Amino acid sequence: MRVLIYDEGCGEEVDLGELARYLSERGARVELRGGFFARFASLEDAAREIAGMRISDPMKPVAREEPLYGEVRYELRVLQGKARAGGVLYDGFALQHYMRSLLPGEEVSLERLHLVITPRLLATFSEEDRRYHLRAIILGYPALISTSGIVEAPAKPREFYLQRRLLGEDALAEARLKQKLREKLLDYGDPRLGEVLRGYALQALFYQLFGEAFCENRRCRLYNAHWQEELIEAQLSQPELCERHEKMLKEWREKATPP
Ligand SMILES: [Zn+2]
Repeated sequence: MRVLIYDEGCGEEVDLGELARYLSERGARVELRGGFFARFASLEDAAREIAGMRISDPMKPVAREEPLYGEVRYELRVLQGKARAGGVLYDGFALQHYMRSLLPGEEVSLERLHLVITPRLLATFSEEDRRYHLRAIILGYPALISTSGIVEAPAKPREFYLQRRLLGEDALAEARLKQKLREKLLDYGDPRLGEVLRGYALQALFYQLFGEAFCENRRCRLYNAHWQEELIEAQLSQPELCERHEKMLKEWREKATPP
């Protein structure tokens, strides 16, 4: 299995070289590829497409209308690395679908996992409750992991939301509250983000290899965490994987690289 990692402008937030080393140790052949759009599209085209995927109303699926000129300019600056992606929400399935359409035929194979790490905030529309939900990972081809989604999508502890209401606009008090709850809460710049990213990358790898990405075991890296507290427990406890998933990975590795 080849894992092709793309960096859509993650900056200092995560160390993708470290992620590549980790996945190599787990038995994949890894290649760090830089930007996905820089490789497969013209940045102008990509900027126009991506600007059309902005979510303006979380209760309404995006209609992909012609985007505003200023929005396209902004997306182009993000793609060129001149601006940071932040504060804007994008339709994750639309983005994935567009990226899939850009992949040339020879790149599309079950032996290749395209893994895009992006700082953009992604959400997917659920028909069940007719609204968008933030996502840390969007499995599929290519697989997308959002570094801001890791921080924003799984819920923070209830006590954080309760106590923050009492703080008003006091940023310093909010930082102190986060520090106090740090066993249960992840924030931007958190040194544990690298560990968490490993877990999401393994979910993408398992999904491609075995068609399953999630585990019921709270201490397995494949646990589908809805709370940050659960995410921290699943990603920072040892051993990394439950017995069954460790065995699956080991058997695959032995088959892929015979002694
Ligand atoms: Zn497991």
